[in-house]
Amino acid sequence: MTLSEPGVAVIPYVTARRGEEPELAAMLGFRPDGRGLCYLDEGPGDRDDQGVLWARCSQAREDGWPVGSPRWGLVHPSRQRETMEGLRCQVCIVSPASRIARGYLFLATRPQDAAPPDWPEGVLSWQPPLCLDCAAIAVERCSHLLKYGAVAIRARVPRLYGVLGTLYTTGADLRPVPVVVSDGAKDTPLPYKDHLLRPWFLASQLVRELRGVSVVDLEREISTARL
Ligand SMILES: [Zn+2]
Repeated sequence: MTLSEPGVAVIPYVTARRGEEPELAAMLGFRPDGRGLCYLDEGPGDRDDQGVLWARCSQAREDGWPVGSPRWGLVHPSRQRETMEGLRCQVCIVSPASRIARGYLFLATRPQDAAPPDWPEGVLSWQPPLCLDCAAIAVERCSHLLKYGAVAIRARVPRLYGVLGTLYTTGADLRPVPVVVSDGAKDTPLPYKDHLLRPWFLASQLVRELRGVSVVDLEREISTARL
């Protein structure tokens, strides 16, 4: 999400910053039993609750807040996971995501190709939710939302679904190498229920399946909240 306009920029908490670098693949190896990936110096924070290994990336922070020029369009794996897992606002993180009886607030754009008739029921999202104040800024300034049209969604059940990331296999040198996939397949999440591929996946974004959804009038919600 890109929240900028000339002279003013709100940089979402999840946005990657210059100077933050992914760790070299040299630290990736295979588990002693040969059944998946591991880090050679793996620690308890390297896997999520489902046992999936996560990409490491340095963080540039001052007083707990990310610093450095934004790398618009890229998200930091740990910060995306932190907000999506905890259902906190992806822009300010200090606020929990807006939640009312109709559910948590997410912003999306309508698919460019034919959307299923019940869209957005069951849509897979790797855009973490937002608080109402940040959603108001996002719909005014996010270039992607402005270009394709923001759709405000309330989801009563934002179910944990899986992860986006990279599938690995064994290379010719017997080291882990990424499986080459088409551009389209890069945005295909791996469901947590895929026990076969899960051990071979290096996650970089957490994905939720939005269930019990309604499309809502964000402007009206904001006006009501300000009364
Ligand atoms: Zn916020």
